[in-house]
Amino acid sequence: MPLDPHGIDWDETGREAVELFKGLLRLDTTNPPGNENRAAEYLAEALSEDGLDPWIVESAPGRANLVVRLPATVDTPTGGPLLLAGHTDVVPAQAARWTHPPFSGAEEDGHIWGRGAVDMKNMVAMSTMVAKLMARSGRERKRDLIVAAVADEEAGCGHGSKFLVDNHPSRVNAEFMLGEVGGFWLNIGPQSYIPIMVAEKGSVHLRMTARGPSGHGSIPRPDNALVQLASAIETLGKNRLPYHLSPVMEDFIRKLADTQPLPASMGLKSLLNSRLSGPVLDKILPDPSISRNFNALLHNTVSPTVMHAGSNRNVIPGEASCDLDGRTLPHFNGQDLKREVERCIDDPAIDIEVVSEAPAVQANPIGSPLLDTITDTLAVHAPDAIPAPYMIPGHTDARFFSRLGMRCYGFAPLKLDPDSDLVFSDLFHGVDERVPVDGFVWGQRVLYDVVSRFLAK
Ligand SMILES: [Zn+2]
Repeated sequence: MPLDPHGIDWDETGREAVELFKGLLRLDTTNPPGNENRAAEYLAEALSEDGLDPWIVESAPGRANLVVRLPATVDTPTGGPLLLAGHTDVVPAQAARWTHPPFSGAEEDGHIWGRGAVDMKNMVAMSTMVAKLMARSGRERKRDLIVAAVADEEAGCGHGSKFLVDNHPSRVNAEFMLGEVGGFWLNIGPQSYIPIMVAEKGSVHLRMTARGPSGHGSIPRPDNALVQLASAIETLGKNRLPYHLSPVMEDFIRKLADTQPLPASMGLKSLLNSRLSGPVLDKILPDPSISRNFNALLHNTVSPTVMHAGSNRNVIPGEASCDLDGRTLPHFNGQDLKREVERCIDDPAIDIEVVSEAPAVQANPIGSPLLDTITDTLAVHAPDAIPAPYMIPGHTDARFFSRLGMRCYGFAPLKLDPDSDLVFSDLFHGVDERVPVDGFVWGQRVLYDVVSRFLAK
């Protein structure tokens, strides 16, 4: 029976965690509409079994957020709280395409199946279990532990992390946060890595507008606003904005390059060179999805997403505009992105405005005692895998929690065996989202060890 130094029987505790997780997967919290109150009530019951007293607040009917705090047990805490944060909503699933129904929480073939298995009911269940184990153990805590299970991450966070940060900041404010996206095993060739998110890109809503004379559709004209706009969109589609190598990506790429065999290591090293990176992204990287991801992490980007122009087929519109979904690297703002887009399209007749923006998030400084605890713990539980701090092109609840000044990391540990064909990025929002039972229990144990070691510091 695998007892650890804290007297936890991990066979038994692993089973308990798996059952808690499966129960959470069985609750349909598809967003929209959300119905996260189902998850909040379920978790509250699990927490109260161990004498904890969770607080639940609804931001709208059915949109419940749960927060539970385990105060420090010492008179003088060594630092601010540690927040474990996860969202309980999930993206829609087309049941007909799944091997096991998406809200079955089925345990079959050594896997636990269900929408949210990796995004991110696993982390919510593990965090809840950590709180239960901490309460049960009565171990000394040198800082507060907060667990938050929030609504609405998949549709903008307005009913979840943003609501809590705006309306109840003292409930969730912490020095450090652990959430998504990281902690999973990324197996490339002969080497496994464990990415730890330390930064996420910002987002900027740009609107690009062309103006021209309106007129009758029967008499075409080259200064048609739509024609001008189309040309600008085409230029953006065919060109990259300038290359920027952030310290996070430089370290991440170097780590991969130094541990991959040829020719992959050569290709990766070339990404560190501003002149070579373009050709490598276009022609050398074998997998288009990897290439697109590196492209997004080495540049500010814009994707044209919504067009507005015209109302009558026979009237040339006097104005045409296009919304651009802009994403910025750390240390760039909306005006920087606007300038890069202006330079790229090089057409003074096109007007570009910054409609709204949310800056990138980056742990500052990146290193911390918590990050050290994570890497030390991984050295015990995954000695052959390489922890690799990285950045994601999208955003998570960290966007809002970081506004309170906390340092946010993406670390929801999950072991995906190098011999299996499970790839984290395919599971995320994918059909047949699932996790290996032993990989989930590995994650539970790692998360508990990280938290208990950190709270003992
Ligand atoms: Zn998520």
